[in-house]
Amino acid sequence: MEDQIIDYVLHRKIRVAANDASDAKRDARRAGATLEELEERVGRLTLACTAMWELIRDRVGLTEEELVESIERVDLRDGVADGKHKPKGVACPACSRMNNLRHKKCMYCEAVLPPPSLR
Ligand SMILES: [Zn+2]
Repeated sequence: MEDQIIDYVLHRKIRVAANDASDAKRDARRAGATLEELEERVGRLTLACTAMWELIRDRVGLTEEELVESIERVDLRDGVADGKHKPKGVACPACSRMNNLRHKKCMYCEAVLPPPSLR
């Protein structure tokens, strides 16, 4: 009887471990697919940014230094110079209050908020 209980407990633990391993394998596969998709998107964005920069540089005559200054300005829009652009809200151009990124008009004074591309 005692052996049967031990067998039952061991088999149950093995089943749980096998299920955990299966879940981990599935999660790893999903994470790998997500990473691959993100790498493809970054590659396409890099290509588009490079092409846009070369057009602007060649047709408008901007310099690398002006591009770097602009990148630094945009980087600071979220309040942190960290090489990333992660706005938490958008400041109203009329009253300076912060608004949710989803809003098109200021919730305080109803002024039109900058479009997402300028945030
Ligand atoms: Zn406002």
